[in-house]
Amino acid sequence: MTKLMIIVPAYNEQEVLQSSIERLWQIENELKQSQQITMDSGILIVDDGSVDQTWPIIEQLHQKQPAISGLRFSRNFGHQAALLAGLTTAVWDADVMITIDADLQDDPEKIPAMIEQYQAGCEIVYGVRSDRQTDSWFKRNTAELFYGLMHKMGVTMIPDSADFRLLSNRAVHALLKYSERGLFLRGLVPQLGFQTGRVEYRRTPRLAGKTKYSLKKMVGLALNGITSLTSIPLRLIFWLGMLACMLAIGMGIFTLTVHLLGKTMQGWSSLMLSLWFIGGVQLMSIGVIGEYLSKVLVEVKHRPRFIVDQHLK
Ligand code: UDP
Ligand code: MG
Repeated sequence: MTKLMIIVPAYNEQEVLQSSIERLWQIENELKQSQQITMDSGILIVDDGSVDQTWPIIEQLHQKQPAISGLRFSRNFGHQAALLAGLTTAVWDADVMITIDADLQDDPEKIPAMIEQYQAGCEIVYGVRSDRQTDSWFKRNTAELFYGLMHKMGVTMIPDSADFRLLSNRAVHALLKYSERGLFLRGLVPQLGFQTGRVEYRRTPRLAGKTKYSLKKMVGLALNGITSLTSIPLRLIFWLGMLACMLAIGMGIFTLTVHLLGKTMQGWSSLMLSLWFIGGVQLMSIGVIGEYLSKVLVEVKHRPRFIVDQHLK
């Protein structure tokens, strides 16, 4: 039999946490009754430094039901860090781990189907959003742009896969060997290999509360995804530089020809234009290089990826 641990990252989720956990608990109970998972399977909630009632709610849930455990960060470390902490903790004794957002926008009713695929031999089962009409226009389109861009840059990602997925104990062990700081699970998990499966579902609106992903966090996640999975932007800079050089050579030949024909150019605007253009390209390029450099800096510092304040178990 399989021991399952459902991992739920939660950041200021007081409005939804209670009902979400109850629903997940019920789903687990049904699986227990049909003897697909062991009786000591549980739920692990990772409180990512919430400042509302999230932690007291977790304490209450734990008191009523010891199989519901909690991990509390010392401050907000971010969604990815919370997922990582949950996996790192659960991997000690669970056979399978399923991560799911606290707002249950990803359909928890698909959990039994995930377990089935695991039992059929899959080490990783992706939750894929076949329909995300309930997300805002902005979110849908920026997400699509991002997945498209990543694909163009040669990064394997499962389009519309969320951080709702099943990972076997072996898969998590493999994942934990990736010791990078700026973790981007959606990009890393497909690199693990193994036999994979997928379940599709419609993404529903949040049960309650507001999104915890500010625009800033979204942009941060996307930039981190790009810089940690591909160096194509650096190569693009090189080609951009090449292009600028070619243009300069062309311009030189043109100017020389015009000069030899006896028509010297006035040329203030063209001078200013190229000055600003090249200047802009250079600044942008330095910015991109800086982005990678800062990444290297963060990695060599080897700072902790999260700090645990309390562990209820
Ligand atoms: N979350 C987190 N830390 C953060 C931001 C979000 O642990 O800094 C959690 C949040 O509680 C939720 C999940 O990550 O369980 C997804 O966040 P949200 O639903 O707000 O994102 P969206 O669905 O809008 O992309
Ligand atoms: Mg959500």
